[in-house]
Amino acid sequence: SIYGDYIKSVIRTVPDWPQPGINFRDITPLLQNSSAFRKLIDSFVHRYQDMELDAIAAIDARGFIIGAPLAYELGCSFVPVRKKGKLPFKTISETYTLEYGKSEVELHSDAFRQGDRILLMDDLIATGGTMLAAAKLITRSGGQVVETATIIDLPEIGGSSRIRDAGFGVFAVCT
Ligand code: IMP
Repeated sequence: SIYGDYIKSVIRTVPDWPQPGINFRDITPLLQNSSAFRKLIDSFVHRYQDMELDAIAAIDARGFIIGAPLAYELGCSFVPVRKKGKLPFKTISETYTLEYGKSEVELHSDAFRQGDRILLMDDLIATGGTMLAAAKLITRSGGQVVETATIIDLPEIGGSSRIRDAGFGVFAVCT
């Protein structure tokens, strides 16, 4: 992507967090740098401004940080995809498997109109489990997932391939 190398240079890797052996990709230095944050949002604006999106759906919680400014800039609506138990109205949910155990994402049942063109966003794709569960949820609720988008893809883990194999496009600002 246009600013990919620059964005990558302002993401910090924290070794052994939250567990030994994990290299956590930390986007807080990117968010603290106002010009980097603007370039990040502009990368998404550049890709999606002519795609006639109806809504940005973003995943709890770091997806919200990028999804909300993009929805504002593109003039489309914003829909939160949340972790289980956070949404107050009628919900639909999708369970997915983690390395240890299970997780669940939820969407309000009235989040979209049938056929709405949706961009799904999160900060990072590792195994792809979270993004894929959210994409299935949106599809089940009648939305059309135009693409999935992320700041960081970790391609060696295979998540983005898995998402593409399931029929959804993937855009990553950096890998
Ligand atoms: P996946 O479901 O295995 O693809 O993991 C992606 C989800 O876990 C996203 O919601 C990320 O926010 C979070 N995540 C996993 N690893 C990292 C990381 O290194 N930095 C930031 N978030 C991460």
